[in-house]
Amino acid sequence: MKRFFRIIVFGATVLLCCGCVGGGGSRGSASAEGPGDFGGRESGREWQGDTADGQGDAAARQEDAVEEQDRESVRHNDAAADGDRESVRHRAAANGDRESARQYVDTAMGTVIQQTVYAPEETASAFFSESMALLTGLEQEELSWRLDTSEVWQINAAAGNKEGCSVSEDMEALLQECLELYGRSGGAFDITLGPLTRLWNIDKWAAGGADDENFRLPSAGELRDTLRLCGSDRVRLVPAASEGEEARIFLPEGMQLDLGAVGKGLALSRLSCLLEEEAGVSGAVISLGGSILTFGGKPDGSFWKVGIVNPFDTSSNVGILSLEGQWCISTSGDYERYVEADGVRYHHILDPETGYPADSDVRGVTILAKDGLLSDGLSTACFLLGPERGMELAEEYGVEVLFVLSDGSIVMSEGMKAYFTKR
Ligand code: AMP
Ligand code: MG
Repeated sequence: MKRFFRIIVFGATVLLCCGCVGGGGSRGSASAEGPGDFGGRESGREWQGDTADGQGDAAARQEDAVEEQDRESVRHNDAAADGDRESVRHRAAANGDRESARQYVDTAMGTVIQQTVYAPEETASAFFSESMALLTGLEQEELSWRLDTSEVWQINAAAGNKEGCSVSEDMEALLQECLELYGRSGGAFDITLGPLTRLWNIDKWAAGGADDENFRLPSAGELRDTLRLCGSDRVRLVPAASEGEEARIFLPEGMQLDLGAVGKGLALSRLSCLLEEEAGVSGAVISLGGSILTFGGKPDGSFWKVGIVNPFDTSSNVGILSLEGQWCISTSGDYERYVEADGVRYHHILDPETGYPADSDVRGVTILAKDGLLSDGLSTACFLLGPERGMELAEEYGVEVLFVLSDGSIVMSEGMKAYFTKR
C-alpha cells in the first residue's frame, strides 16, 4: 500500500523533534510490513514538526530550532515495498547561508532517521547519502535477525552447530561488549533473548503503543520453556587463534541473538566516525528513534538541545539536555513499544528472570555517553536494574544517567546535573 506523510519544520520557536518522528508517526498501529529489528516504522499518518500531538513516544528528541527563514517542508513519500528503504524527497532547510542547518529525513533500521547537518549543501547532501548507506548496510549485513543477508542471521542459523559460526572482527567486538554487560548487569541485559522477544512478538507491536488484536499473553509454561533457550552465560565466543583467522561463536540449540538493545547505539558510533572523516561538516544532530548523536557545533556557538520525553505525557518533555560537541544520548522507556491488553501494559524490555516485561519502578532511562554502544546498551540495562543498581552500573561505566520513576520523580547522576534543565 502506498503511504504518504509530510514533515514540516518550522522556525525558531519551534522544535525539530527528531526523535518524535519515528515514534509519533507509528503510534496508530503497526504497519502492514511490521517494524524492523530496531524500532517501529512509520504507519503513514501525517506528522508536523511543531505540533506535540502524538509524537511523544520518542525516547529523546532533538530540540534544535532552525531559523524562521529556514522554514521548509520535507516530503517523505513512502512507496516502499516490503523491506525496501522508503523513498524521500528532501531539500536543504536553507539555501542562502553555506553553514545553515540542512534537514533530512529517511528511514532505516526500522525507524525514522532525522538529521540536521551544518555544512555547505553539497557536503551535507553527500554525508546524508553516505550515512543512509551506512545504516542500511549495518542492518542488512550485520545486525538484523530477520534478513538472511546479515551476520546475526547466520549466527542464529548455526545455533546448535558443533562447528559454531565464524564472526567478523566488528561482530566479535560487539558481542564481547554485550557479554560483558550481561555479566556486569547481573544477567539483566541479555542479547540471547531472541526466543523470548519472538514469543512475545514484540517486533509486531507498534512503536508508541497500540492495542494489538493479535496479542496473546504467553502462558507461564511457555515462558519457562522459552527462557531455557536463553542465557548469555551459555554463549561461547572463541577469539581468533592467530592473525588472519576469525573468531567463532557457539550458540546452544534454540538460542537466538536479538541485538535490538544496542543496534541504534552502534549506529550512532559508526555515524560519529563517518562525521569525523567528513571534513566539511561542522556540526550535526542525528536522531534514530530513541538514540541521538550530537557532533561538532552550531555556527552561532549555541548548545545542542535534546529533550527527554515525559513518559507520563509523551507529547511533552521532563527537561532538556544542553550539550556541546560529540555525545550519544539513548533512552529506554516503557512507552516506546508496548501493547495494552485487559488494562495492562506489556512493554518491550523483558526481564530474563521472569520472562515478563521488566517491573523495575522505572518509566524511562536516559544515558549520556561518548560511545553509542554504551549509551544504548546501558539505557536498556539501567531500565532493567532500576535506579539504585542502575546508577551504580552507570558510574562503573563512566556515563551519566537520568531515571524517570513510576511515581514521577527524577533521579540522576551528579554529572548529569550539569547538562539537564528541568521543564
Ligand atoms: P531499548 O529500546 O534500547 O531499551 O531496547 C529494547 C530492545 O532490546 C527490545 O525491543 C528487544 O529487542 C531487546 N531486549 C528486550 N529485553 C532485553 C534484555 N533484557 N536485554 C537485552 N535486550 C533486550
Ligand atoms: Mg538500548
